Amino acid sequence: MTSFSLAGRTALVTGARRGIGAAIAAGYAAAGAELILMARDAALEDTLEEIKQYGGSASVVTADFADPSAVERAGVELASRKIDILVNNAGTIRRAPAAETSIDDWQHVIDVNLNSTWALTRPIGAAMARRGAGKIVTIASLLSFQGGITVPAYTASKHAVAGLTRALANEWGPAGVQVNAIAPGYISTDNTAELRANPAREAAIRERIPAGRWGRPEDIVGAAVFLASAASDYVNGHVLAVDGGWLAR
Ligand code: NAP
Repeated sequence: MTSFSLAGRTALVTGARRGIGAAIAAGYAAAGAELILMARDAALEDTLEEIKQYGGSASVVTADFADPSAVERAGVELASRKIDILVNNAGTIRRAPAAETSIDDWQHVIDVNLNSTWALTRPIGAAMARRGAGKIVTIASLLSFQGGITVPAYTASKHAVAGLTRALANEWGPAGVQVNAIAPGYISTDNTAELRANPAREAAIRERIPAGRWGRPEDIVGAAVFLASAASDYVNGHVLAVDGGWLAR
């Protein structure tokens, strides 16, 4: 299945220190890509080790996604390199009822999940469009479709990320750039640690998932490779749920 190969491609993955981003980076290395890992700081030993085990190589670029201007400066610099695949994975969540969500909490989540995604994607996607090829994969959420419980800023950011995915697909599709998103279901990472620490909440979520279990970061890798590879050249503007069937219920 050579159309799924990422050999000879350079992939930039944000938030690659842990969780879904680390799994995607390792999966891309296994599929043959060279990696650029973007993270808050350069301490990415575990991810780098895993990439090495797959015979891959990676460089590291640092930027704090709470500062979209800094991310944009990094993006403009990175756009001078030939980046074939961009994965917008870095993201955060703050759980609190709407009445108790401060404007600072709101701003932080919107900055990390939405504004920095935009700040990075604009220069790198524009460079892809000028070259006439590229793959952009953004990590959306079930809360790109649903309201969620006590995560208003997160839900707003992930709805916006789905809209941005479609808007950029329309604009850059004619130039040979595919822009798609993955909407992971409930995945066991630090993002959902609070939910899993509450036995009633954990069980309620698990029992609603047709697959009968929480997802693992590795569950996202196949879709991420597909959307980064030639196999998805005629897929554009799609938000692909990888959720054990949650949305079908
Ligand atoms: P995670 O384990 O908490 O990982 C989040 C990643 O984002 C980390 O690598 C983290 O970097 C990075 N990040 C957070 N704030 C940052 C900042 N200010 N600057 C730079 N990087 C920052 O969670 P995850 O579940 O893997 O989340 C990855 C993506 O999947 C997110 O966009 C999340 O919204 C989305 N998602 C997750 C689930 C789920 O159930 N887990 C479901 C739907 C969507 P550090 O390691 O340096 O902190």
